[in-house]
Amino acid sequence: MLALQKRRDDQGLELRDVPEPPPPGPADVRIRVAATGICGTDLGIQKWGAGYRAMMAKALPVTLGHETVGHVIAVGDGVTSVAIGDVVVVNPAVACGDCARCRAGDPVGCLDRRPVGMVMDGAFAPLLNVPGSYVYRLPANIPLELGALVEPLSVAAYALDVAGFEPGQRVLVYGPGPIGQGVAVLAREMGAAEVAVVGLSDAARFTTLRTLGFDHLFDMSEPDAAERLSAFAGDGFDIAIEAAGVASVIDQALALLRPLGILAMAGMGEASGPLDIGLLVRKRLQVRGVSRIPPRIWPSVIALMAKRPEAFAPLITHRLPLSQAIEAFALCRAGETSKVLLIPGD
Ligand SMILES: [Zn+2]
Ligand SMILES: [Zn+2]
Repeated sequence: MLALQKRRDDQGLELRDVPEPPPPGPADVRIRVAATGICGTDLGIQKWGAGYRAMMAKALPVTLGHETVGHVIAVGDGVTSVAIGDVVVVNPAVACGDCARCRAGDPVGCLDRRPVGMVMDGAFAPLLNVPGSYVYRLPANIPLELGALVEPLSVAAYALDVAGFEPGQRVLVYGPGPIGQGVAVLAREMGAAEVAVVGLSDAARFTTLRTLGFDHLFDMSEPDAAERLSAFAGDGFDIAIEAAGVASVIDQALALLRPLGILAMAGMGEASGPLDIGLLVRKRLQVRGVSRIPPRIWPSVIALMAKRPEAFAPLITHRLPLSQAIEAFALCRAGETSKVLLIPGD
């Protein structure tokens, strides 16, 4: 079968003909992949940054792809939560089950994680095996391809959760990419009073946000954007979500929060930046990191999507066959896309 793999300890990815996975083990399920989204993580693996190398070098070759949806076509004897024919999505954060944290009952804190699409073979292929305890059934009223959004939306939902989001709040989002867009849509669907999104020369992504129904958009490359944003902020936003990984926006976000406001940082960046300690202390603000999504988030995202699936559909902007994966990655890098799906053939 065709698979998009990281094969060598170097930059790049390869489309390869590889053997099908073995029959699923007793605790595993086999999925026929319907669609898999390309994530910033996948782009990072293609570029082979130091963090990815540290986690993945010993697992090569490995098939990428972790934002996936498909049909269960085989189940191990020990799996009772799903059955053949079910449409499922995959929580890729597979824990080792054996380290000190796992044995202490904290698999989210696992010290030796085996993420699907990074250490375990992933879903840029027609077939994959995953542990049955990491799959969730998708209700029939959610269109199949939207299942590929559940994983990135779980990141967005957890960012809101970490920020202590409550209905009626005013929410500021930095970064109009797929995660920021997910934060905006989820906040609105959960009853935010207002959502503002800040970007930098992100015309295509702002177009998607307009299609999604947002108009408080601030492109900081425009000369009056900062002024318009602080006017719109008024007495301050209740929470802010950073989904761009840009350290230099921290002080701006802190300035735009109301006293006791919370900034949740979900964007993965390698840079450090200044921090206005006086502002942080005087306004009694909090800055919190967002990583490692607890399993409870998954059913909550699926339940929210099931209420109004059409609200999420514009998040997917492109669909390409898996055979065009390399072109699809280049398209993502150009920044003109929101979520891009790869569709495997047979
Ligand atoms: Zn992802
Ligand atoms: Zn572990």
